[in-house]
Amino acid sequence: MTDMIPFIDLQAQRARIKDRMDAAVMKVLDEGRYILGPEVGELEAKLAEFAGMGRALSCANGTDAILIPLMAWGIGRGDAVFVPSFTFAASAEVVVLAGASPVFVDIDPDTYNMSPESLAAAIADVKAKGELTPKAVIAVDLFGQPADYPALEPIAREHGLKLVSDCAQAYGSTLGGKASLNWADALTVSFYPAKPLGAYGDAGAVLCKDDALFDTMKSVRVHGEGASRYEYARIGINSRLDTIQAAILLAKLEVFAEEIQMRQRVADAYNSRLGNAVKTPKVIDGAQSTWAQYTIEVDDRDGFRAHLAEQGVPTAIYYPIPLHLHAPYASYPVAPGGLPVTEAAAGRVVSLPMHPDMPGGDIDRVVAAVTGFRG
Ligand SMILES: *Cc1c(COP(=O)(O)O)cnc(C)c1O
Repeated sequence: MTDMIPFIDLQAQRARIKDRMDAAVMKVLDEGRYILGPEVGELEAKLAEFAGMGRALSCANGTDAILIPLMAWGIGRGDAVFVPSFTFAASAEVVVLAGASPVFVDIDPDTYNMSPESLAAAIADVKAKGELTPKAVIAVDLFGQPADYPALEPIAREHGLKLVSDCAQAYGSTLGGKASLNWADALTVSFYPAKPLGAYGDAGAVLCKDDALFDTMKSVRVHGEGASRYEYARIGINSRLDTIQAAILLAKLEVFAEEIQMRQRVADAYNSRLGNAVKTPKVIDGAQSTWAQYTIEVDDRDGFRAHLAEQGVPTAIYYPIPLHLHAPYASYPVAPGGLPVTEAAAGRVVSLPMHPDMPGGDIDRVVAAVTGFRG
């Protein structure tokens, strides 16, 4: 059995920036302000600066980051929120937690992001049935690339819907040089350790441009706090960020732009060397992906994965079963005509090792294993 190369290598990144991170963490321990300490405010300012627009509110994780704006807008019972099914559970789970109903929308076959045509059809269908009130769209920036916001935003606006960018995998991505917040009302981020910008524990953030929304979300984040600490203006949650995570993220943010370029170089190498053998990822014109995943499509996926594993190359499947086919989500509406593109993709996608510190030798091994597969 050959040694497995890493799928992602957080220790290689740690070795690269260890000194500044250790110093940042020790400073937090010495100062003793463990929750919402000074580094948290510093991080929020830097996150907005890096995105190039808006204000950032940190929170406990990327799931809360989506829930918080939904709660701030008062979205709840009887409301419809349009969301892709080809995503991580959190994107739709928060809709149910808010008391509303997800309506599942199909994806584009090349980018795996929300299909504007399917969204328009789903909105029309919900309106025609009259049981739910359309309120918001959660577009997911899957695998690191922005959804097609220039096409999605006019549809959301036409129907008076809020637009959320679930940017959990794609903070730092751009379209025409701009963050998806340029089109969305809220951009939500996860700093789960394996995401492109990862903390050393759970952490998240939500960015917005509107000051009133920011203030309401800030209240929601800490139990619905009102003008003073033990006065409550609304029902909220506890989603404060640990200061240690903010300090770690501040150190990592300094090298993040460079890391996106390091990931891009791995993607470029894969693209040029795998393009003849498998369906490689398509990034829309003018977009910069953060390459949270490098996801290809193959016919015989089980055979392919077994062959790669034999060659010491790990793979992963994001996502093997679309959300609308899981029991807890099965009773919610889907776009008219169902989700054929989603279901086809779920049976064919497979993600290859991808991280900024990937050595050329590891890339060579992945390429040899992929091109050497005879399915
Ligand atoms: C990871 C992820 C989330 C949730 O983030 P957590 O920090 O794990 O709560 C939400 N949406 C998508 C698309 C994700 O990949």
